[in-house]
Amino acid sequence: MKNNILFKTNLLVSVILLVGFALIATLSYRANYNASLVKIKQVSSLASEGIYYRLSTLLTKPVNISQTMAHDSLLIKLLEEEGSRYQETAYQETIRKYLATYKNKYAYDSVFLVSTATNNYYNFNGIDRNLARGEAENVWYYNFLQSGEEYSLNIDNDEVAGAADKITLFVNCRIRDAAGQVIGVVGVGVNIDYIKGLLQEYEKEYDVATYLINEKGEIEVSSLYNGHQTADWFKVNDSEAIRSEVLEWKNGRTNWDIWMPGAVQNNEKSYLVVRYIPDLSWYLLVKQDTGALLAELNEKMLQTVVLILLVILLIILIITSVIRKFNVRMTQLLEERQALFKEATEQIYDNIYELNITKNRAASKKTELYFEALGAKDLPYEDFLQAVADKQLLEEYRAGYVATFSIENVMRHFKAGNNYLQYEFRITENGSDYFWMRIDAYIFYSEADDSVHMFTYRKNIDEEKRKELETQRKASTDEMTGVFTKKATERIIDSVLCGKLQGCYSFFIIDLDNFKQANDLHGHIFGDYCIREFVGRLKRFCREDDIIGRLGGDEFVVFGTISDPEGACRKAARLCQKLDTVCEDSGSCWKMSVSVGIALAPQHGRSFAELYAKADKALYRTKDKGKNGYTVYEEKE
Ligand code: GH3
Ligand code: MG
Repeated sequence: MKNNILFKTNLLVSVILLVGFALIATLSYRANYNASLVKIKQVSSLASEGIYYRLSTLLTKPVNISQTMAHDSLLIKLLEEEGSRYQETAYQETIRKYLATYKNKYAYDSVFLVSTATNNYYNFNGIDRNLARGEAENVWYYNFLQSGEEYSLNIDNDEVAGAADKITLFVNCRIRDAAGQVIGVVGVGVNIDYIKGLLQEYEKEYDVATYLINEKGEIEVSSLYNGHQTADWFKVNDSEAIRSEVLEWKNGRTNWDIWMPGAVQNNEKSYLVVRYIPDLSWYLLVKQDTGALLAELNEKMLQTVVLILLVILLIILIITSVIRKFNVRMTQLLEERQALFKEATEQIYDNIYELNITKNRAASKKTELYFEALGAKDLPYEDFLQAVADKQLLEEYRAGYVATFSIENVMRHFKAGNNYLQYEFRITENGSDYFWMRIDAYIFYSEADDSVHMFTYRKNIDEEKRKELETQRKASTDEMTGVFTKKATERIIDSVLCGKLQGCYSFFIIDLDNFKQANDLHGHIFGDYCIREFVGRLKRFCREDDIIGRLGGDEFVVFGTISDPEGACRKAARLCQKLDTVCEDSGSCWKMSVSVGIALAPQHGRSFAELYAKADKALYRTKDKGKNGYTVYEEKE
């Protein structure tokens, strides 16, 4: 039962906490996710911006230097003479030195010069070769001359001397003579690894993937690829759908961005920022996917879940411990209370027995032993009840005792909502000495065996009962004469008249004649003496079962059975005779006589009040007639 409550409490708390935490975790996950998407956009744009401007700066310098050389009058002059002097060692040396100076100064991979007059290609080593038309490696030169542009940038996969497997970015610049005629091309070659390093730097810092792709969509530079291997970015990234959109973006000033469609895998998606670089006719692509973000969020979520579970576990442990402690304490308190209550009850009562009323048998070991002690082992409760009544109770209490505690009576009271019964009786344990006992019975329903039970608390009340009876007796006895008071007389006579009448009854009112004289002549003490004397004689005259009471002053009642109305008259006559006497005490003397008024029951009434009123009338008749006699009430009066 207790464990069930504990389990339910823990379950409820766990569910509330789980739902609460899950809600908070989900909301915070969503918020973090959305914030992270915004962050991805910002970071990608920022990285794209940064790379773009670093690239622009990187390209500007070789262009400027190439243009400086192209406008250098010394170089123009040398080129104008090139057709006639190129075979001179000194001439060649001058050009070589010129180019070598630039190369060394700016640490370029290559600084070159081509004369349109001879198509001789010079570099920092002197004449390198002659650029014959039709050779693949010279296509760039003829294309450039044809293009009409003042300068151009192009990537050459040709290996630069001493720069194995490296791709070089070449800046080509026209050289014009004073008349504006193109007389040569000068330029520098920069190792593209620098650009790759730049991309890697940004990738590392912003956790993005960066690519430079050409107008065909092929990857020119990335941390994984370079122009040596032909790899199509859209194929590699499984995003053919956006090929045309990306490649049509020719605006070099602003970027274009998109959450890449169709590339969602494992809930991941990628954000792409595209920027066109007109100088190179390349695209800078910066891509960041949510994979790392999701991994981070999932890890955080996992940590949160573990934390939540730990917190719930801790709370359950605390609740369990608190409830267990509380239960233990409650049980202790209950046991202490029960022990205290039992002790107190046992002090109050001599014996406590428990009976199963529904099953008509003893309901505790102690009760069974009690049955056994009275020779009623294994007897049904009602048989035992009767046996106790017959063996131990004073006869007049037996029927009441059995009726009060019979199964029928107990069940009737219980069904009527009364759980309490009480009966007082006189009982003996040794067969001769009777004492007063009270049984308080408490009826209740026992869930344990689905039966109505009854506790009986037995208490020896002999002493208190005797005191109570004595008090009652005193309260109903006239102190001076020892006969009943008016109230007690009235109660007792009424109780007799209420019950089954045993034939005929006479009701005498007896009044002392001229009693005032006794007081007046000899004083009240003597008067009292006379009253006691009168009562003594009266008691001696009356039968034991006659009820004698004092109604007040010198007026008394005698109530008792008579054989017939004449019997009442005879009794009254004898009484008058007996009390017609002289009272003497300490020299005082008074002539005593009584007047009697008689009413008969049931013919004159069946209550004290009726009989009293009628007897009183008869008494007055006696007084009227001259006292010392009796009168029977007659209806005509
Ligand atoms: P009657 O013949 O008509 O009955 O006249 P009576 O003198 O007896 O007067 P009555 O019965 O009317 O009055 C009774 C008197 O008894 C009145 C009262 O002073 C006196 N008395 C009442 N109680 C006591 C008592 O306890 N002791 C004494 N000494 N006198 C009492
Ligand atoms: Mg009188």
